[in-house]
Amino acid sequence: MKTLSRRQFLVDGTCLAASCAAAAALGPFTACVSGAWAQEDVSGTVFKGDGPKQLWKWSREGSAYRSLGGGQVVCLICPNHCALSPGDRSICRSKVNVDGRLYSLAYGNPCAVHIDPIEKKPLYHFAPRSKSFSLATAGCNFRCLNCQNWEISQAKPHEVQHRDLFPVEAAAAAKQAGCHSIAYTYSEPVTFYEYMLDTAQAARETGLRNVLISNGYINRGPLTDLCRVLDAANINLKAYSDAIYRKLNGGRLEPVLSTLKTLHDHGVHLEITNLVVPTYVDDEELVRRMCAWILRELGPDHPLHFLRFHPQYKLDRLPPTPVSTLVRFREMALAEGIRYVYVGNVPNHEGNHTYCHNCRKLLINRTGYFIREVHLNGNRCETCGTAVPGVWA
Ligand code: SF4
Repeated sequence: MKTLSRRQFLVDGTCLAASCAAAAALGPFTACVSGAWAQEDVSGTVFKGDGPKQLWKWSREGSAYRSLGGGQVVCLICPNHCALSPGDRSICRSKVNVDGRLYSLAYGNPCAVHIDPIEKKPLYHFAPRSKSFSLATAGCNFRCLNCQNWEISQAKPHEVQHRDLFPVEAAAAAKQAGCHSIAYTYSEPVTFYEYMLDTAQAARETGLRNVLISNGYINRGPLTDLCRVLDAANINLKAYSDAIYRKLNGGRLEPVLSTLKTLHDHGVHLEITNLVVPTYVDDEELVRRMCAWILRELGPDHPLHFLRFHPQYKLDRLPPTPVSTLVRFREMALAEGIRYVYVGNVPNHEGNHTYCHNCRKLLINRTGYFIREVHLNGNRCETCGTAVPGVWA
């Protein structure tokens, strides 16, 4: 009899439950016989023939695509490089080929519009206490088993409730609400790239900042164009492992690392998030290698957030991340040399606070998304005068 480790038991059990649920939805003749619970790659595929017959008022021609001949086009926004024949819909569900041209259906029709504290993104070293006007349309280029916004990320733009909000209107609404920035967030902004870029330009013209909260799965060309109007980003580095990216998220590691380097090279304020999903990502060796890469390629100053996983979507049978794991990873990252490391999704934990990397005195005391104390003089520690990386004005 084969003995399973706790890790393998949880992975197999969870995937078995998910695939049985999917099979049940398909009908009685698709029983769990495929071994799908051992799926090594959950990447999405193009939806053949699923595009609308006609465009709608929220349709805009794609900003980066190429014709392949015979009416086929390839989207150049993200590494999925969807090749679409006329009538097809993309992996992210928001791009379609109509008569040999690529169109985005996610333009000016956000399904989520909220005003959030910037700390919620999380961005801890960027304009603390400011408000961010937060936008999302439906769609995502990943298929994360643990997605917390799957109702909108795994939906087509017409399937969700949305409202009209074109770029200039979004910038005006953000300004009127007293926001400091517009955040492109919640689902996956890469999939509403055209809307994000135009809105970011309109925001800049009204004196607002722009922040990107993303999986970082975007090609260098479109990202470089976006960097011209981008002030800050939090990129979710889901795992320092290509194999885990394939089986947990349906993506690849290397393009995300490339995004981190591009943002760093362009001087965009950058923070990194790592959601610690039990049995997938809670591996000390992965954390050590991730920290070594960050230090080598980006240096010690980009804040790193270890977030607690809560059971949801297809991983609703996994337990939440033990807080002790997050604390251990934070201590490891600090010991490796990353200067600002946080524990997230654990309210009122001391790992939410900012401590000076030089004298270790408390700089910012946070309770949830709220700031109780700040001990900075401009960008310097009040106690020892050390400059603290970030945008503090
Ligand atoms: S942005 Fe969407 S359409 Fe374009 S390559 Fe990525 S998944 Fe495909």
